[in-house]
Amino acid sequence: MNRAESERLGSFFQQLGYKPTAVTDEADLILLNSCVVRQSAEERVINKIRALEQLKQSHPALRITLTGCLVDSDLPGLKKRFPHVDYFFKPGEQPQWLSKTKSAILPGQPQVSTFVPIIQGCNNFCSYCVVPYRRGREKSRPVVKIVSEVRELVKSGVKEVVLLGQNVDSYGNDLPDKPDLTDLLYELNDIDGLARIRFLTNHPKDMGDRLIGAIAQLGKVCEQINLPVQSGDDDILEAMKRDYTVGQYRRLVKRLRERVPQIALSTDVIVGFPSESEEQFTATVELLRELRFDNVHSAAYSLRLGTVAADEYEDNIPTAVKKERLNVIEQLQAEIATEINTRLLGKIIEVLIEGRKKGKWHGRSRSGKIVFFISRDNLLGQLMKVRIVKTSPWSLQGEVIKDK
Ligand code: SF4
Repeated sequence: MNRAESERLGSFFQQLGYKPTAVTDEADLILLNSCVVRQSAEERVINKIRALEQLKQSHPALRITLTGCLVDSDLPGLKKRFPHVDYFFKPGEQPQWLSKTKSAILPGQPQVSTFVPIIQGCNNFCSYCVVPYRRGREKSRPVVKIVSEVRELVKSGVKEVVLLGQNVDSYGNDLPDKPDLTDLLYELNDIDGLARIRFLTNHPKDMGDRLIGAIAQLGKVCEQINLPVQSGDDDILEAMKRDYTVGQYRRLVKRLRERVPQIALSTDVIVGFPSESEEQFTATVELLRELRFDNVHSAAYSLRLGTVAADEYEDNIPTAVKKERLNVIEQLQAEIATEINTRLLGKIIEVLIEGRKKGKWHGRSRSGKIVFFISRDNLLGQLMKVRIVKTSPWSLQGEVIKDK
């Protein structure tokens, strides 16, 4: 979500005539888009803001702007804490000081694949998560707005959209006619020139069969789902307030794989939640071994003040144990991803070409795997058939067969 917003803001400033620079000292404007999902991320952005104080003294014309989840309701407190920051605005808001110049933030740079936020905020209050406190309650964008934005993006050369929300399964609950994600997907699937649609993140307690049916049926919707499980132990899931059991999660994965056999699944896992025992952690490892995800995003539990978990539980798993648990998961996942990707050797898959790096074109398969290959032609934005000739847990190498 932050990356999407940063891209939009970057494009917007370029429309206003700013040019990006990699040299901080050269900048006339610095915009920090903060993330506070983990304590370490919050500390990093605070250190960065502090480090800019000196630069501002030697370069008084510099304008510093802070947005993202660090900008909460206590604006006076933030202003007092960081007096050298010129402007603050909340995530997803239009910067007030710019509203006179432009009426909307529009993406300016033509891209092949781009993010489109469809719902902001979250109503779930998982016990460890600070997002609902910082991003507020769910707020969906109307279907017509999203459809017209995607039409405009397609006109500018976009071929793939990634619909974003903290919980895309809640999309539309707060809108008057209560459309849902499936309705939105049907509308977007009809847009000529759009090749692919992805969306994240789904919540296992909310993902329904209607949506699974849409993934199976709609040609442009890619077979790739991020379905965070967080833990393989029911007591931990309850303490996390996730509202599903391991059994329910397992059945959902089974239904998904039955209806969409080629689906690539990724998941998120938190290790070291307060009081997580060795047995409970092992249950998570065993679940990952059983369900065999294409990708696992693992993170150590990070205490966030103001959350239910911070109030009710002690952060009592030592850092070294959390690290060791992360290692176990990373090693297991590297083995699983190696096996899954090795099976693609020799197969021909469709790749949407997103760019070129170090002499190689790169793009993604429908299942979200990164594929590199060499070609002298300009293939940007094209759908190509590529034969896979080499695999690793993280990416694939291929050779072009022919245009789609
Ligand atoms: Fe946080 Fe849970 Fe909402 Fe995800 S679903 S943003 S983890 S509260």
